[in-house]
Amino acid sequence: MEHKQPTYIGPEQIIDKRKAYFYPCTQHFYQKPPQLVRGSMQYVFDEQGKRYTDFFAGVSVVACGHCNEEITRESVRQLQTLQHTTTIYLTQPMVDLAERLAEVLPGDLRRTFFCNSGSEANEGALLLARMYTGKSDFISMEGGLHGRTNLTMSVTGIPMWQTDPYLYPGVTFIPRPFDHKELHAQLSENELTPAARRSLEALQAVLDAKGDKIAAMIVEPIQGNGGIIVPPKGYYREVKKLLDAHGVLLIMDEVQTGFGRTGQMFGCEHFGIVPDIITMAKALGGGVPIAAFASTDTIAAALSKPSASTFGGNPVSAVTALAVLDYIERERLVQRAAERGGALKSALLELQQRYPAHVSDVRGEGLMLGMEILADNPTRGAALVDQILEQMKDNGILIGKNGLNRNVLAFQPPLIITEDDVQSMVNILDQVLAQIGESNVS
Ligand code: PMP
Repeated sequence: MEHKQPTYIGPEQIIDKRKAYFYPCTQHFYQKPPQLVRGSMQYVFDEQGKRYTDFFAGVSVVACGHCNEEITRESVRQLQTLQHTTTIYLTQPMVDLAERLAEVLPGDLRRTFFCNSGSEANEGALLLARMYTGKSDFISMEGGLHGRTNLTMSVTGIPMWQTDPYLYPGVTFIPRPFDHKELHAQLSENELTPAARRSLEALQAVLDAKGDKIAAMIVEPIQGNGGIIVPPKGYYREVKKLLDAHGVLLIMDEVQTGFGRTGQMFGCEHFGIVPDIITMAKALGGGVPIAAFASTDTIAAALSKPSASTFGGNPVSAVTALAVLDYIERERLVQRAAERGGALKSALLELQQRYPAHVSDVRGEGLMLGMEILADNPTRGAALVDQILEQMKDNGILIGKNGLNRNVLAFQPPLIITEDDVQSMVNILDQVLAQIGESNVS
C-alpha cells in the first residue's frame, strides 16, 4: 500500500502557520522549534535527519520510548482487527486492562473508569468524590496542575494555567510543603520541614472551618508543572489522617508520576499511603490517548447514574496500554527509573557544585528531576532557562521547563534511557552551563 508522505515546510513557515491557524495560547519552548518527523525509542529526528535525545518524553508520556516496536505492533494489530465499538459493549481489551490495573494499583483501588486525558480523569475523580461524600467543595495545593476543564482548572494552583475568568469558587488552596529557605534540610525518616508543618496547619484550619462542605483534596504526589516538588516522606501520612478525620477523600493525580516515572510504580508509594482515588493518563498509553480514574468498591458504588465516554477504553488504546504495562514489567522499567534517575541526579548535583552561581537546586525522584536556575532572581532564571533549552536543542538534546516562575529545567526522559545517553546529556549541559556562566557574569 502506498502511503501519502506529508510535505515538510520548514521551521519559519511552521511559525507562520502557527500564528495563522492556532489560538494565541499555543505554548512553545523554542525560538526555532525543531520540526520532528520521526521517533525511535529515546530519540526523535527532524526533517533533516538530525537526531535529538528526548529528555522530556512528550511530557512524561513515552515511558517505553517513541514508536516502541513491540507496543506499536499490538496497536496496529488491534487497529486492523476492531478499531472501535461503543464502550458499552465492554470489549475484551478494556476488561483485560481494568483487571491488569487492579493488579498494579496500590491497596484496594480496583474499579476503573476509562476516559481520554488527564483533565478528564481528574474531572471524573472530583465528580466521584462529590457523589460519594455528598459535599461540593475541594482543597488543592498551590503549584498543582490538574487540567483545563472548568473544575480541574479551578483546582489548579498555577495562575498562568487558570484561564477561565469564571472558576468554581469552592476551592481552597493550601501552601506547598516546600520553601527555598529550607532546601537542604537533612531530615530523618518521619521528620517534617517547617514548610510541611505550615502546610499541615493550613490544611487543619481549612478542615476545621469548612470540612463539612469539602468532598476531596486533590494533589500531585510530586508536583510536575509546579517545579518538581517532593514533599518530605511523612507529609502525606499526616494529610491522610487529617482528611480521614473530616470525611474528606484524598485524590492523587498520578497523571505525570504514574507507571514508574519516579522509581516506584505510583508516586504515592514513596510516601507509604494509598489515596482514595488515583487518576492516570500520559504514560499509560505510551502516546495513544487513554486515561482513567480508579477507586475502591465502596467509593465506586457512588457513581451509579449513567456515565460513559465514547472513546474511553477504546480497544486500540486498551491493547496499547496493556502492551505498555507488559513492557514496563518485563524490562523492569520501574527499577531502571530508580537506578538511572539516581545516577542522573548525582550528575546534576555535581553540576550544581560546579555552577553554584546559577544552579540553585536539584530535586526529584527517579526520572522526574528538576534543576532550578537562579531561585532568588526567577525572572532572570527563566530567561536563562530559555537560553539553556535552545542551546541544548541545538546540541541534540530536548529537555523541558516548569516551575511557578518557569525557571526550572525538567529532565523526564523515557524510562529506557541508557547510561550513555545520560552521560552525553550531562556533558552537553556542562558545556552549556559553562557558556551561560561566561556570558552572564553578574
Ligand atoms: N495532571 C497533571 C499532573 C498534568 O501534568 C497534566 C498535564 N500536563 C494534567 C493533569 C492534564 O492532562 P491532559 O493534558 O492530558 O488533560
